[in-house]
Amino acid sequence: MFETLSDRLTSVFSSLRAKGRLSDADIDATCREIRIALLEADVALPVVKAFVAQVKERARGAEVSQALNPAQQVVKIVNDELIQILGGETRRLRHAKTPPSVIMLAGLQGAGKTTLAGKLARWLREQGHVPLLVACDLQRPNAVQQLQVMGERAEVAVYAPEPGNGVGDPVEVARRSIDHAVRQQHDVVVIDTAGRLGIDHEMMRQAADIRAAVDPDEVLFVVDAMIGQDAVTTAQAFMDGVGFDGVVLTKLDGDARGGAALSVRHITGKPIMFASTGEKLDDFDVFHPDRMASRILDMGDILTLIEQAQRTFDEQEAAKVAGKLASGDNFTLEDFLEQMMMVRRMGPIKNLLGMMPGMGQMRDQLNEIDDRHLDRIAAIIRSMTPAERTDPKIINGSRRARIASGSGVTVTEVGNLVIRFFEAQKMMKRVAGGMGIPGMPGGRK
Ligand code: GDP
Repeated sequence: MFETLSDRLTSVFSSLRAKGRLSDADIDATCREIRIALLEADVALPVVKAFVAQVKERARGAEVSQALNPAQQVVKIVNDELIQILGGETRRLRHAKTPPSVIMLAGLQGAGKTTLAGKLARWLREQGHVPLLVACDLQRPNAVQQLQVMGERAEVAVYAPEPGNGVGDPVEVARRSIDHAVRQQHDVVVIDTAGRLGIDHEMMRQAADIRAAVDPDEVLFVVDAMIGQDAVTTAQAFMDGVGFDGVVLTKLDGDARGGAALSVRHITGKPIMFASTGEKLDDFDVFHPDRMASRILDMGDILTLIEQAQRTFDEQEAAKVAGKLASGDNFTLEDFLEQMMMVRRMGPIKNLLGMMPGMGQMRDQLNEIDDRHLDRIAAIIRSMTPAERTDPKIINGSRRARIASGSGVTVTEVGNLVIRFFEAQKMMKRVAGGMGIPGMPGGRK
């Protein structure tokens, strides 16, 4: 997501790098480029205008810092403004004082509501809640069944109308689900409602009726980021027809431009609370404006990366890795293999690398990185003897040949791996020192 914008902005900034100071003409030219970049990213015009005006004013203003060069100053201003336009602070979910908290989802058909309901329920469960999913989409064929499948995958209970018992009246189903939640001690209720293909009076009325009947703590408007400018129109229609407290952007994985994300907050005044980035239950996260801005400006998203790691590994494993890092010299090919396998569990390697600072410009190379490379490396290491893994320096020509034939690769590949391992070992020592890991040279004592 945001590739187009990211590329454009990065090139705007790099053209500033050579400048000692910025004249008004430089600032105007830069703002023009930023304007084009935003328009190309499908950001709504009023948002573009407000954004550029703000950047221009601040760049011309007295914010001259001795610590930053002109290019860095512009990057900082754009970063600040991106965070603002994306909503400023991260907005957390509100919970009711007396459970259950009620979250209602509204949006067009196909926006990804049902999928989102499953993701949200699982996320809530991981946070220690006991959610209940409620099927109030009685319009779309199979919607109830789809929610039941989602519930199974998320390991969360689903409340659906029983045949002959209030079937066909979503308002009644919603009302009864709250009583059911109280009886079964669910502390959060997530209500999936019916959408239509287009903005439709009847759909709005039904959603408004459900809202009136259950008085939700949060009404979340779910919108497909791929519909671009239409997201803004749809958001406005739902604002008027039902009203909502927060926005969930879905299918951010499919939208290279990201205009919806950058427009919807400014236009509706409502925060983006969650982002959905794929069809799997895991492809979901709390929306953090500051992290998203960093990602757009290719400053990396280390925090998300760390959280993803924490989610994947338990603390014991993490402590083990940290211990290995701190011990530097003891880092062997065995550890290298083990860590590589841990990283693999976090997801496709190119997604992970994409979150590292500066990786945006290497996107083409990243796309060529294939998880199968990792499997080849694993095969090579597994063809080594324990002694070779512990002390790769002993790997001479004949050992290389044996390992190559054992793992089905060329002798050169084996040699390259060993060289890369030594480099990694060296780098880890440097990183560990720089991070101030106790006990490392240069680290905290
Ligand atoms: P609903 O009609 O609003 O309930 O929408 P669904 O939950 O049925 O989703 C419609 C389609 O979009 C389904 O095929 C989902 O798998 C897909 N989908 C939902 N969220 C995402 C997402 O974040 N990324 C992608 N690529 N597909 C998604």
